[in-house]
Amino acid sequence: MPHEEDKLRDACGIFGIYDKDGYDVARMTYAGLFALQHRGQESCGIAVNDNRKITHHRGLGHVGDVFNDTELDSLKGQMAIGHVRYSTCDDKGLHNAQPLVSMYIKGQLAIAHNGKLSNYVALKKQLELSGAIFQTITDAEIMLHILARERMITGRAETALASIMKKLEGAYSIVMMTPQKLIACRDPLGMRPLCLGKMNNTYVIASESCALDTINATYIRDVDPGEIIIVDKNGLRTIRDNVIDRNDARLCIFEFIYFARSDSVIENMSVHEARKNTGAILAEVAPVDADMVIGVPDSGIDAAIGYATRSGIPYGKGLVINRYVGRTFIRATQSERVSAVQLKINVLKETIQGKRIIMIDDSIVRGTTSANLVAMLRDAGAKEVHMRISSPMFLNPCYYGIDIPSSDELFARKYSREEMRDIIGADSLEFFPVERLKDIVPQLDCGYCDACFTGNYPWRVPEEYCE
Ligand code: SF4
Repeated sequence: MPHEEDKLRDACGIFGIYDKDGYDVARMTYAGLFALQHRGQESCGIAVNDNRKITHHRGLGHVGDVFNDTELDSLKGQMAIGHVRYSTCDDKGLHNAQPLVSMYIKGQLAIAHNGKLSNYVALKKQLELSGAIFQTITDAEIMLHILARERMITGRAETALASIMKKLEGAYSIVMMTPQKLIACRDPLGMRPLCLGKMNNTYVIASESCALDTINATYIRDVDPGEIIIVDKNGLRTIRDNVIDRNDARLCIFEFIYFARSDSVIENMSVHEARKNTGAILAEVAPVDADMVIGVPDSGIDAAIGYATRSGIPYGKGLVINRYVGRTFIRATQSERVSAVQLKINVLKETIQGKRIIMIDDSIVRGTTSANLVAMLRDAGAKEVHMRISSPMFLNPCYYGIDIPSSDELFARKYSREEMRDIIGADSLEFFPVERLKDIVPQLDCGYCDACFTGNYPWRVPEEYCE
């Protein structure tokens, strides 16, 4: 993924599969995680359940680097869960990789989580005061502790889960394995996506539908916000105690603009179509005379096609990514980051030279990449460079699993639009209008969260964050 130092990062992708005939669930999970790699590139893992015995393998790095044939051959079983991770904190160590596998009084329990509990600190404090010891800084471990306690007074793991969901605030899509069941759930506001698919008699759960496509599973539906899905030898059933009115759900709108893969469908809405819609609306509200529209790869490209189609200005490929360069955000200083953009993206000079260019990108976080890209286009001979951003100004922190810089690093918090334009060096700069967000997802089957643009948070902001 290009220019990640100036982008937000999602906090994970999850996958689960139950195949009572035990047809290579580890390899299916491996393929599913490959499709979800964009959601997390720091660590990954797979846990399998072979006749009630859970084993796992985890590692730092990409799915293709962590697993090889030998490891996958050793992971036999009838169900599996998998995880790809970005950390939302500085601790990227292997101990925080998921799935987490624990032993408690009822046997083994494995869990993988996407999202962020906004009441993590309060829950952890409560648990520590009752004597709990932690080995990770993950939300998943908090959930394991609370679940284990609840399970002591509840007959089944899934009813214990339904009960503890009332204590959890924030975003959580989960896949879990008990000795006998694959269990999945989505938080009552449905903040992170999760979908259900099927392949013959095999059920599959994944963060995004692109993972189902990869293993030729048929998409059945999204897991409803608040719904728990249980798959065991008797088939599939659900618990809907925490399901609320779909209009009150708060699915992250940024999944459509940037996080999700463009070939995924979330809550009835194609991500590719949503991105094209952002470009089309930008062409309506922020038109400019130009010779060519280009997109910053990858997620700016769909929006650029939408802008070009609506405006009638030709779309062209002006930027090319080098996919083999490491992630720039690991570099320490700002100056190193700037040069890293040039390692990742190059300009097609013959396409750009002498033209007035509209460049579409999905977001601006710190502004470093945008300034660099505009300079590269000018060096390549662009007569004018007009920047259009397919998301509104990013003004507020996210407490629900998106790794963001502190507020004082946010470009749109520090500068006026004119100052941003001048710093970037563009001839004009326009953002997607926040009041038109609903128009990018006309088929969306539920409400959405836009708090990072509006400050309208679905959960109370915890005091420790305010401080
Ligand atoms: S605050 Fe923004 S990034 Fe976070 S869940 Fe809401 S829309 Fe998504």
